[in-house]
Amino acid sequence: MPSASSSSRAVLVLATLNPAKGRELQALLGDVPFEVRLLADVPGARLPDETGATYGDNALVKARTAAELTGSLALGDDTGLEVDALGGAPGLYTARFGGPGLDDRRRLEHLLERLRGVPPARRTARFRCVIALVGPAHAEKVVEGVAEGRIAEAPRGNGGFGYDPLFFYPPLARTFAELSDEDKARVSHRGRALETVRRLLRG
Ligand code: IMP
Repeated sequence: MPSASSSSRAVLVLATLNPAKGRELQALLGDVPFEVRLLADVPGARLPDETGATYGDNALVKARTAAELTGSLALGDDTGLEVDALGGAPGLYTARFGGPGLDDRRRLEHLLERLRGVPPARRTARFRCVIALVGPAHAEKVVEGVAEGRIAEAPRGNGGFGYDPLFFYPPLARTFAELSDEDKARVSHRGRALETVRRLLRG
């Protein structure tokens, strides 16, 4: 992948191989002065396992890998769901919660099972998203966004991805999966972190 496009705008590579997240990020970065591309479009691109001790470590490893592979500015992110009644779990292990082989639906069932009998007032939770930007000359920046909510008692909605059908957002009285892409972007952990990223990229 070249580091500059035919329109001579610099390239920003999104270090994710998850198509749903890639699309969400691309839409949220529509107005930055960069040509935004997906690492998933680079043939044979791979990302290391998320084994860092913090969200920031994981986000940085992804961004550094993509920056090295492409020679372009790269953006990596790591997100965790922190459920208070589970002592902050699954947190760093959100993607593997319940076991590595589960699909999204079975992961939701696992979360509901772990919270069985916990009343609504004690089902508070948050999504935390950390985003790292790594430049080809190794300049690095890390920012964070948080969305506070509650784990619903049953999944609702068909939008978004991952844990969205169970993440109830009280200010809009809907789960994230019931929000339009635009509304989710305005209030979500990733949307908030990207607001800072957009400011940095415009600057
Ligand atoms: P990752 O940091 O993108 O690898 O995400 C870690 C885990 O959090 C995965 O299980 C994702 O499905 C989940 N996740 C990340 N972002 C969101 C979101 O915006 N909504 C719901 N689940 C998410």
